[in-house]
Amino acid sequence: MNTSADKYTIETITHVRPWTESLFSFRTTRDRGYRFVPGQFARLGVEAAAPDSIVWRAYSIASAAHDEHLEFFSVVVPGGAFTSRLSKLKEGDPILVERKSYGFLTTDRFEAGKDLWMLATGTGLAPFLSILHDFATWENYDNLILVQSVRRAPELAYEEIIRGFDKSEYYKEFAHKLRYARIVTREPTPGALQDRVTKLLASGVLEKNLGLNLDLDRSRIMLCGNPEMVEDSRKILIARGFRISRRGDPGHLAVENYW
Ligand code: NAP
Repeated sequence: MNTSADKYTIETITHVRPWTESLFSFRTTRDRGYRFVPGQFARLGVEAAAPDSIVWRAYSIASAAHDEHLEFFSVVVPGGAFTSRLSKLKEGDPILVERKSYGFLTTDRFEAGKDLWMLATGTGLAPFLSILHDFATWENYDNLILVQSVRRAPELAYEEIIRGFDKSEYYKEFAHKLRYARIVTREPTPGALQDRVTKLLASGVLEKNLGLNLDLDRSRIMLCGNPEMVEDSRKILIARGFRISRRGDPGHLAVENYW
């Protein structure tokens, strides 16, 4: 994709945090004019191997709309032109950020829900971190339900932040609203479920574990991550009567494939 210079700003990587060998988060500076709705994604550009060429990729924004920086959560895709370059970037390096933000995995797709369910696999967690740092989310819902599925326990990134809302000066009055289920599929992990989220959804075990039922009147559900997980979960939920939210026709479901 070619993007002319007036369509992006040149930002700087300010912080890189590795979680595992192939999983990392990074922060960049943020242009003062950059706007996004929590749940949206940015398009980031890094220089490619060929001279004067830039590779662009979509990245969900993990940071809050009120943060001065932007934060992203990434895996290194084996052989991937973008992430293999990105994973070598370090603090102080430039990164391009398109001025426009994108995507519809936002709570304004819904009307009148009471429980907001956020089901993530892998780095699909990112948009939900941004949504969870939006005060309006906590104010508008009685319950926030976050499900994070990873292959192995060290990939449970951001767990401390997710568990720490009750210690935060700003969020502690709301923190009792959060229910958090961790799923680690490829090794037994204390306190975590081990079956795939789709199986747990279909069997009702997920609801039982969280102590809350999915309900057409109350539940609004967001899915983000592995495209097969998104598709299979969507089918399970549609079979139970939930509907996809569309522009001008709010339903129960909003989905984002992650790659
Ligand atoms: P992943 O394979 O998406 O697994 C993450 C979690 O999702 C695991 O708990 C996994 O369970 C579960 N899962 C996978 N497929 C599912 C399905 N159909 N239904 C329900 N749950 C499902 O792994 P990842 O570690 O996040 O990413 C793995 C690879 O995906 C990366 O190495 C990369 O190649 C690719 N990826 C690409 C991009 C991109 O932008 N190109 C972004 C992210 C990831 P299981 O252990 O049972 O599989």
